[in-house]
Amino acid sequence: MYRTHTNGELRIEDIGKVVTLCGWVQAKRDLGGMYFIDLRDRYGITQLAMGDFDFSIGREYVIQVTGKVVERVSKNKNIPTGDIEVVVENQVIDKDNHVSSLTILNKSKTPPFTIENETDGGEELRMQYRYLDLRRNPLRNNIELRHRLSIEVRKYLDSINFLEIETPYLIKSTPEGARDFVVPSRMNPGQFYALPQSPQTFKQLLMVSGYDRYYQIVRCFRDEDLRADRQPEFTQIDCEMAFVTQEDILQTFEALMVHLFQVTKGIDFDSFPRMSYADAMLNYGCDKPDIRFNMQFNYITELVKGKGFAIFDDAESIIAINAENCASYTRKQLDELTDFVKRPQVGAKGLIYLRCNEDGTYKSSVDKFYTEDELKKWATRCNAKAGDLILVLSGETATTQAQLSALRLHLGNQLALRNPDIYAPLWVYDFPLLEWNEESGRFHAMHHPFTSPKTEDLTLLDSNPGNVRANAYDLVLNGTEIGGGSIRIHDRAVQSRMFDLLGFTKEEAQAQFGFLLNAFEYGAPPHGGIALGFDRLCALFGGQETIRDFIAFPKNNSGRDVMIDAPATIDKKQLDELNIKVTL
Ligand code: ASP
Repeated sequence: MYRTHTNGELRIEDIGKVVTLCGWVQAKRDLGGMYFIDLRDRYGITQLAMGDFDFSIGREYVIQVTGKVVERVSKNKNIPTGDIEVVVENQVIDKDNHVSSLTILNKSKTPPFTIENETDGGEELRMQYRYLDLRRNPLRNNIELRHRLSIEVRKYLDSINFLEIETPYLIKSTPEGARDFVVPSRMNPGQFYALPQSPQTFKQLLMVSGYDRYYQIVRCFRDEDLRADRQPEFTQIDCEMAFVTQEDILQTFEALMVHLFQVTKGIDFDSFPRMSYADAMLNYGCDKPDIRFNMQFNYITELVKGKGFAIFDDAESIIAINAENCASYTRKQLDELTDFVKRPQVGAKGLIYLRCNEDGTYKSSVDKFYTEDELKKWATRCNAKAGDLILVLSGETATTQAQLSALRLHLGNQLALRNPDIYAPLWVYDFPLLEWNEESGRFHAMHHPFTSPKTEDLTLLDSNPGNVRANAYDLVLNGTEIGGGSIRIHDRAVQSRMFDLLGFTKEEAQAQFGFLLNAFEYGAPPHGGIALGFDRLCALFGGQETIRDFIAFPKNNSGRDVMIDAPATIDKKQLDELNIKVTL
């Protein structure tokens, strides 16, 4: 037997026991002939005390020790095993004449960074030696949280009759959505599989097959240009249900989330607030508002136009937010906010402010166009009190909303209003069915082509497709979209009409999605579903921003695995077998 206990296990009750432990040497202290070793494994750290041994043990050596558990003289209240230590002596200590001992199971080079909670290793180095980084507590906690969440998801969904069904990874490329990762087929020269961006069509087919509650914790692949904190392969909790309305789906998955909050964080939620997409855009300028803080938009367009200030006079919309208690912002702080909105990523031309001074006076950057009384009206519209600061952007409505949303979040961070220990879930519903794409000059599906239009908007499909709302919803947590789904089209004619709208010819639709259109002719039940981003969910439950630290072996920001050095070239023989010529 390699070990009798783990390093997180021994307590004061174990005093006197002879135990065998295995683990990694976290630290070694030499106190004049007496050595102390902190022995680490997944479960914790146990202190070993020993006389001088005749070999040198370095950090991260893997050792096995046998010794007696004794009470520590100076206890360490910070670790669960801190009341005891294991004394390892070179003497006969049990009835079988077993000699207590220390065995080096394997040596270790000096690790390239310290394996501590706070490490001195840079991101790239830690990625290269991910197996060492994973030994650190913060990562181990994350991986354990991920495990806990996945177990709870499975337990919960199983308890309400969901079946976990696997769907294929080698499928067919489709032109909709993001770019596919493709896999050449050796047995079918010139042909390619694609890795699924999601199991969308398969889960719908499972509904046609009668498996009316499906889920899968499943890897998805999207070959997108890498934005911060996106992974080319990521994991979804993918779900689909038959014979349900949107309300059934929201309630089912809200209950799942409530359960997860309860069991993993001890937080109780009654019900999640809901907001229509239109309201989210109007009041927060984005479809995933962070409602941990208020700072909603105030439209002051008609209040401020026509006073000779050309920028406002020429603008379609003039929108203000109230930064409470910020009237004392210095010139420098205001300049910083202006610089923020002028960054190319935000793209505003400038920022107008109005200080509601403590003494009841008003000071704005456009004083010469507005009287004190007029400025007061802005303040009243924004519910601002003495001591508040109003910030105003103007221009084309949608653009201004997006810019002000960025400023709102920036201020939320600056004013510490986005506390990661507070959780503010929100359903956003009634998304538009389609969005116009300037580049391709056609409509694209806002969610995906299988999303059903709202029945009451069906008549708009021909006259004003851009205004058709969909039975589509997102689950938002702290300003991050953690899931989205929709009620699907289950009628062949409607699905064909949708493909028309998206610019597919009949032949293209049949070639790409014929299998689904055909299936709809064999008794497709009404159905709908949702997918939750599992990596992001783990990060949010862990109170952190980056999903990378919740994935055991992630890719870096350029989509590379720097540990195994992938992607990589393949040899000529493999290429020939696949009939692929590389012309770089
Ligand atoms: N398949 C969709 C996605 O990956 C989710 C859904 O509609 O269920 O976003």
